Amino acid sequence: MADRVCLVHYHEIGLKGKNRSTFENQLVTNLRRALRDFAVSEVRRVSGHLLVRSEDGQATEELAHAIACVPGVARVSLAYCCALDQEEYCAAAVRALGEAGDFESFKVHARRSQTNYELHTLDLNRLVGSVLCEAFPDKRVEMHHPDATVVVHVVQNVVYVYCASGPGVGGLPVGTAGKVVTLLSSGFDSPVATWMVGRRGATCVPVHFSGRPMVSDTSEYLCQDIVEALAPAGMVGRMYVVPFGERQREISLAAPEGMRVIMYRRVMFAVAERIARLEGAKALVTGESLGQVASQTLDNITAVNEMVSMPVLRPLIGSDKQEIIRRAQQIGTYDVSLQDAPDCCTLFMPRRPETHARLDRVHEAWDSFDHDAMIEDLVANVEYVDFDQCPSYKPPRGMRARHKELAPAEPDHYA
Ligand code: ATP
Ligand code: MG
Repeated sequence: MADRVCLVHYHEIGLKGKNRSTFENQLVTNLRRALRDFAVSEVRRVSGHLLVRSEDGQATEELAHAIACVPGVARVSLAYCCALDQEEYCAAAVRALGEAGDFESFKVHARRSQTNYELHTLDLNRLVGSVLCEAFPDKRVEMHHPDATVVVHVVQNVVYVYCASGPGVGGLPVGTAGKVVTLLSSGFDSPVATWMVGRRGATCVPVHFSGRPMVSDTSEYLCQDIVEALAPAGMVGRMYVVPFGERQREISLAAPEGMRVIMYRRVMFAVAERIARLEGAKALVTGESLGQVASQTLDNITAVNEMVSMPVLRPLIGSDKQEIIRRAQQIGTYDVSLQDAPDCCTLFMPRRPETHARLDRVHEAWDSFDHDAMIEDLVANVEYVDFDQCPSYKPPRGMRARHKELAPAEPDHYA
């Protein structure tokens, strides 16, 4: 019987010249890493597709499913890999259509790439079509909107035959769009925001602020679980953890109560930007969604955003909670986010947080504590956890030695 392989399809828009090989090579590298737990014998390019072959020659639905989670994959087809032999590929077409589930109508779609095979696509359509009509006499051929399509793709001396094909997550291979630092909590939003920029090709470096030592380190473990849940997509190589509890206490003692959350956020942004510079990341990412909670009004976003000069990407700014939850279920972070853990956001929360902060008040509160020393100290004491899931992640060299040198030029951002 013919071997079964996975054919990986990707969108080719924008993939011209050098871009194309960078894209394909990164996707091959990422797939190899993502499929480590499967006995895969090869991942290589075949005429506008990638081919994934398992050691036993019998690729499974599970393998196809794992491939579909990798950014850059538009579709995955579980194909029979046949010799250039009419009997063999026609038999494979019968099997493929037989596995199509419920269908009333079908068609054959033949393609040829790089081949001098004597049969042309029209001949192939006719030949395979007639065999299928005989094998499935009660089904009809329908050219425009068939329920099932059997693809017969001739490439050099091989014929790939498939009917089963499922969508991938799309996007671009992680590692083709540079690095970003994502502010990650264990809530629903920021894991989804991380996944979304990762799907567009960014290598993601999450930074989590925990309430340690004032609260337990549970939120840190939940964030690690989130990163593990994102492993099939291969986006994260390192997560930074910033113990923030002590500093939050200082802020809560110094700044007016209603301003606390904005002060916490300003410090978080400043520290995240410093880590981003150390990492060579070019943007910050948050899971903010306009108006979702008190800190996410336009006024408060402005009051926090002015801390940084890097672009801040907010992929969920226009999403509703329900959409975010659905996405969390799809990407596998939902169950972790469902668990409640105190993090820095639940610590020293004001009874009535400011929802429309005036900038002069914000600046007054900001000057009520030694923010520069605090930021410096938090950066100097940052911790990190490494993950072996993201081939494009390269750690910065001499992390601790370099943090001073990368301090922002002006100590007062709003001066
Ligand atoms: P999430 O579900 O991501 O926690 P949220 O709805 O709870 O978001 P906020 O608590 O206002 O909203 O947080 C807004 C954004 O700030 C988050 O999406 C995340 O990017 C960042 N953030 C919040 N808490 C933390 C934290 N403890 N560590 C790192 N980033 C955080
Ligand atoms: Mg939160």
